[in-house]
Amino acid sequence: MEALNRKINRIYLSQLASFAAGNAAEGSYINLLNILEFENIRLHIDDYGDHFDGALVFDNSIHIHLNSNLGNRLDSKRGRFTLAHELGHYIIPHHHEAIKMGEVNFSTITFNQHNYFEREADYFAASILMPTALFKRFCEGRPFGIELIRLLSNTFDASILSVLKRYCEIGNHEIMVIACQNGKLVWYEKSKDFPAYKHRFSIGNTPPLDSFMNEYILGNKSESELSHSYSGDWFYTNFERPMREYCLYYQKFRHILSVLWFD
Ligand SMILES: [Zn+2]
Repeated sequence: MEALNRKINRIYLSQLASFAAGNAAEGSYINLLNILEFENIRLHIDDYGDHFDGALVFDNSIHIHLNSNLGNRLDSKRGRFTLAHELGHYIIPHHHEAIKMGEVNFSTITFNQHNYFEREADYFAASILMPTALFKRFCEGRPFGIELIRLLSNTFDASILSVLKRYCEIGNHEIMVIACQNGKLVWYEKSKDFPAYKHRFSIGNTPPLDSFMNEYILGNKSESELSHSYSGDWFYTNFERPMREYCLYYQKFRHILSVLWFD
């Protein structure tokens, strides 16, 4: 049985994705259809009930299926991510081999993947939609804020969630993203340069009482807004430092994301 916390090889996957994105870039936008055409992969977009988001199937040719019933269309960010994820299964050599050996792969896109192959394909997807060099170049000289996250999301045609995760990894401003599901914190990610404050929260528990996220939950809010918070709302700090907190609500997943940063 695989270890849930087995680390994926991010550098390798990111390089593989950048290479695959190379000829498909139209400015900052990666046109995945160019890759499909180049690799001779047939795309099917159809209503498959609620069974899966996407699938890669080998018979005499290669097929990628997208489930339109779950919102996977070419003009939706979810569909683009699913397509990029399936391309990952096709391009990552050990996925390609495993699937070709007879396993049909059905992928479900969730907020928090545990399966090792799925995590690799998700990471590949984010990396091909937002290749490292293009993403970094775009962020250069632009101040951080939710406007930048929205601009990145529109430019690279990727979801806010995947932009935030990518930004935590290769962005140029210190940020932290914390996710809450059904009132309990479920994961967090932060940039390497985010201050190493001791947390006033832990995974599996409710958000801190003073946090904007908690206010957001208690107020049953669903509109995003910016809060002028303090570092002490989420962390143990010797002195209070003004901090920004912005909440995003995903009704479908009953998820709330908090983005924390300092100006
Ligand atoms: Zn998958």
